[in-house]
Amino acid sequence: MTKLEHAAAVMLTMGEDGVVVATMDLPGRTMNVVGEALMAGIAAAAERLAQPDAKGLILSSAKADFCAGGDLDRMSAWTRPEQAFEASMAMKQVLRRLETLGKPVVAAIQGHALGGGLEIALACHARFALDDARLKLGQPEVKLGLLPGGGGTVRLSRLLGIQAALQICGEGADMSPQKALGLGLLQGLAASHDELMAQARAWIAAHPQAQQPWDAPKFRFPGGDSRAPAVAQMWAIAPSIAAVKSQGNYPAVQHIMSSVFEGGLLGFDAASEVESRYFAACAVSQVSKNMVGTLWYQLNALKKGASRPPVGGEVPAATKVKKLGILGAGMMGAGIAHVSAKVGIDVVLLDTTLAAAEQGKAQVRQLLDKAIQRKRSTPAQRDALLARITPTTAYADLAGCDLVIEAVFEDRGVKATVTRQAEAVLAEGAVLASNTSTLPITGLARASVRPANFIGLHFFSPVEKMPLVEIIVGAQTSDATLARAFDCVLQIGKTPIVVNDSRGFYTSRVFGTYVMEGLAMLKEGVHPRSIEVAGLQAGMPMPPLALQDEVSLSLSLHVAEQARKDLAAEGGTPAQPAVDHPGMAVVRQLCEIGRVGKKAGRGFYDYGDGEKRLWPELGRLYPLAARQPEQRELIDRLMFAQANEAARCFEEGVLRSVADANIGSIFGWGFAPFHGGALQFINAMGAAAFVARARELAAQFGPRFAPAAVVVKQATEGGCFQDP
Ligand code: NAD
Repeated sequence: MTKLEHAAAVMLTMGEDGVVVATMDLPGRTMNVVGEALMAGIAAAAERLAQPDAKGLILSSAKADFCAGGDLDRMSAWTRPEQAFEASMAMKQVLRRLETLGKPVVAAIQGHALGGGLEIALACHARFALDDARLKLGQPEVKLGLLPGGGGTVRLSRLLGIQAALQICGEGADMSPQKALGLGLLQGLAASHDELMAQARAWIAAHPQAQQPWDAPKFRFPGGDSRAPAVAQMWAIAPSIAAVKSQGNYPAVQHIMSSVFEGGLLGFDAASEVESRYFAACAVSQVSKNMVGTLWYQLNALKKGASRPPVGGEVPAATKVKKLGILGAGMMGAGIAHVSAKVGIDVVLLDTTLAAAEQGKAQVRQLLDKAIQRKRSTPAQRDALLARITPTTAYADLAGCDLVIEAVFEDRGVKATVTRQAEAVLAEGAVLASNTSTLPITGLARASVRPANFIGLHFFSPVEKMPLVEIIVGAQTSDATLARAFDCVLQIGKTPIVVNDSRGFYTSRVFGTYVMEGLAMLKEGVHPRSIEVAGLQAGMPMPPLALQDEVSLSLSLHVAEQARKDLAAEGGTPAQPAVDHPGMAVVRQLCEIGRVGKKAGRGFYDYGDGEKRLWPELGRLYPLAARQPEQRELIDRLMFAQANEAARCFEEGVLRSVADANIGSIFGWGFAPFHGGALQFINAMGAAAFVARARELAAQFGPRFAPAAVVVKQATEGGCFQDP
């Protein structure tokens, strides 16, 4: 084996068999990412292959991944579409050269091949991958408001058919190697790295003059091109399905569809150029800037511990929970037991009776049985997980727990009792966390003998699905406790945000403004259907009235009453908007007539025969106003209410960082992801424009819309929400 050269990013070697092995190894990065350096290396590899002594080429990687995708640092700096277009076309030129040399090129995929990484592999004549279910292949660009700009839409529609290409690029889901093999994206799977390379060599030996199918003279799209009757039929409905899902808020979804459709009518080169133009439109769009900024940069920063403070000037070593106690085996307790046992933590699940504790465990079993039915788990995995959960009524069983999470009834007295009982058996250093959704942590910590070790861990329901945990720091919570709680959230595979203590914390408080605004509209006589449509058009996962029904009106009323009592007792701290919101009158009125929400089968909707319908009598309670507002106004109200409340949380110090605010809003209550989060909503619009519109809304609908002082300051002095 002779080492030919070590171009900056791709190392080339050639054996006596004339096979060039091109190993991607971008210097100074932990991952291979597509940018000028990597493409220059691949270009050099193609030129080496062009020499007469080279018989074929294997493209592989020295990193853990094959190639992770486009270099987002580089893409984020683009401001003009031409920059994106030129970069995309330059990449394509290199890949085109590689696949048209008349010699076989094989991708040996030993790690993730995502986005630009999969596009590079698609320009190879064959692809083999390690048979490892953790390995991911896919075109996830759409999830960041982008489009595959390295030939992904063009080659996938020619390799797998137009419908499959649309699905892979339009949905952005990851595929396992097994799935990719089934689709025909891979030629084979290997059990080891050596086998992978041997398969690649064997393929090269068997295909000395490899050619891409689309370069064959009689090439036909599998399943037909965009004109073929079956495909045309799909095109008749796909755009409307996508429009319903995206509400037109995600330009990348439309651009991907256009790229696949138009590419399905054109020759390869023209299709490639069309794709690059759509890529350019996405790459510099505000939506992709919002999504990349939040769902890539801020999310990564949070996962790397941006909100995990140093202790005594030093970053504490990461900790792991070995034994976790859970007080209360209800819906939340069982959910937390499930996700914890899943990652190997031993769980003690305590309730007032053994039957209740066992019922919690049975709830976990039910979910696991469902997973087995769906082939997502096996009986052996289920049994191993269940064996880690010990139901009990004995506090003594909590001895040795590193962390105890309290998830009993939402009642201060009950919470205080269980806190004292648990602390009596816990070691000095153990952490006690409350999963309360409404009760301030500092108050709950008064029951604790070790308030420095007391913290809030606010999980969301259903626990196994919701990705966020809101960590609430009480007045006396220590940084060491925060660090340990943070580590535990990461350990169980959730994303942590950290906020300071306040009524409703951050997520419940801001989420409440969305629902309440919808209710206020109803009270003013806005047609309920317009309200619901506005919620969906705004990009929220569920419209406000339907959501209030899910939460239950009686629960909201109870929380508001509790807050009102607390405020009176405290002698009036800053009012929580939900307490005095005009929407609260609607909640009260519906509760009085027993329409308390979905759980009762009646709320704003009637529930029956598996279908729900808006309650026809709503119009009698809230007669339609003569002037029906434009949808734009309704959407503005729903979004400004949330963004402004998030800004208030920021200025009051409830929020500790912009990343926490944005990620918390998207992962916690589904704040329209295309805006990049509740504070990015304001950044994208610009503080001055936000303040101007907020003042208009305040003049018309009340002081709750008066812009937060922090944004007014940005508007006059410049600046935006930005973490240091
Ligand atoms: P739940 O009523 O389903 O479960 C509460 C459990 O606590 C019951 O099994 C009950 O028997 C047990 N319990 C009551 N008193 C106890 C005691 N003294 N000792 C031991 N166990 C006791 O309630 P849930 O929905 O699981 O909520 C639990 C906590 O989580 C509440 O503080 C709630 O506010 C919070 N929370 C709920 C949600 C949600 O969506 N349900 C979301 C986030 C947080």
